[in-house]
Amino acid sequence: MNVFGAVKTSINTREAAERYGVEVNRHGKALCPFHNDRNPSLFVDDDHYHCFACGEHGDVIDFTAKLHGLTLYDAAKKLAYDFGITQDKPPDKAMQEKLNKKSEAQRLRENEKLCFSALLEYMKLLQEWKRLYAPRSPEDTQDDRFVEACHTLDYVEYLVDLLIMGDSYERTEVIDMMMTDGKLQKLQMHLKKHRKERSYEQEER
Ligand SMILES: [Zn+2]
Repeated sequence: MNVFGAVKTSINTREAAERYGVEVNRHGKALCPFHNDRNPSLFVDDDHYHCFACGEHGDVIDFTAKLHGLTLYDAAKKLAYDFGITQDKPPDKAMQEKLNKKSEAQRLRENEKLCFSALLEYMKLLQEWKRLYAPRSPEDTQDDRFVEACHTLDYVEYLVDLLIMGDSYERTEVIDMMMTDGKLQKLQMHLKKHRKERSYEQEER
C-alpha cells in the first residue's frame, strides 16, 4: 500500500480536521477554513468533507493539502507523520484504539436510525388514522386523530423522504431538528401511548 492508501484507510477526516485546529461540532459541521465562513457550512464526515457555501470537497489528503498549502503527496506524508502511520506498519495500538472509538459521525448515524424508525412508525400511524377516523358524514364531529393526521402527515412524509432520499447534509438537518428540544423523545412517547391504546382497542374487539 502506498502512502496515499495507508493514510486514507487509517485516518478519519474529522480527526484530522480537529487535529489541525478546525473545530467540528457534534453534528459534523464546522466553520469552513477555505472561505470567510460565519455559520458552519463545512460538513466533515469520516471519509470526506464538503462545504455547502464554497463547494470545497475532498478526502482527508485534499483537506490537509488545501489547509497547509501542500501538494497532495506532501500532505499525505504529513498526515502519515502526524498520525504515526508508516506504509509497511499498520497504525500502532493506541492509534488503532482511537480510530475504533465511536466517532461523532457514527453517533450521528445512530441518531439517524432512531429518528427514522420513529418517523416511519408515526407516518404509518397517521396514514391509518386518516383512513380509519375520517368523518363519515358532515355532521360527524372530527376525531382528534383524524385532525392530527390532516395537519401533520404531509410534513412527516416529507421528513421520511428526506431521510431516505436526501444527501448527507439534508439528513443531518432532519436529525438536528429532531434532536433539538427533545422532539425525538416526545415523538417516541406519543407513539408509545398510542401503541398502548391500540393494544387495548384490539383486546376489546
Ligand atoms: Zn467553504
